[in-house]
Amino acid sequence: MARGSVLVIAPHPDDETFGCGGTIATLAASGMDVYVELVVQHGINTGGPATAQVAANRGMEFALACGKLGVSDFHVMIEEGDHRDTLHTQAARMVESIEYGSPLSIDRVRPQLVLLPARGAFHQDHQVVHQAAFAACRHRGAGHHTPAVILGYQCPEDSWSSQIEQATATLDVTEHYGQKQAAVACYQHQTKPDPHLRSRTAIERADAVQGAAIGVPYAESFVTYRTDLRFIAEAAEARELVCENT
Ligand SMILES: [Zn+2]
Repeated sequence: MARGSVLVIAPHPDDETFGCGGTIATLAASGMDVYVELVVQHGINTGGPATAQVAANRGMEFALACGKLGVSDFHVMIEEGDHRDTLHTQAARMVESIEYGSPLSIDRVRPQLVLLPARGAFHQDHQVVHQAAFAACRHRGAGHHTPAVILGYQCPEDSWSSQIEQATATLDVTEHYGQKQAAVACYQHQTKPDPHLRSRTAIERADAVQGAAIGVPYAESFVTYRTDLRFIAEAAEARELVCENT
């Protein structure tokens, strides 16, 4: 039986991996069900020329990466679209999908933890997704699920943001870092040569810096938006049950 669930909101294919792939792999390996809601699978090719094949490639890369990370299930909210218009004109629909409309909505998955793009993101479409997901995580009253912990992940380009936020929560992802590296390698169309921020080595260096802050090889850090401490009590209870059963 799964020990709770996690919902990751990714604006585009690759954000879940570049932003928090090590955390996804670590939590999935711990026995939690990790679900990824991909907002738009657009046809923009960051690493080369746009072609009709790009959207399909990005979808395939996303599915492969989720497999490497141990994701339980994923869902694409908007299959096709130009993200430069789509996300800004569909914010209300996005909120409803994350709340209850998607097969992986908050009400269906009932996650203890939601990982969303941090508010101070560089990309405007990440900012829009942050606002929608943050709104969907509010307490909506009886009959609706309220996630106990809300954390914002930061993507490579966020280091060039005029409103970058201080990361306040950290997870050692060293044990499962190989899975993140394998997932990053799935995104051939989205990575660039070193020393670009989206290069494999730049991503590893950034995770190594986060790791050094807590004395481990690799870590990922997050901005905290909600930490309901009953989450810790529930985890302790779950551990007690496991101990009693063994
Ligand atoms: Zn993105």
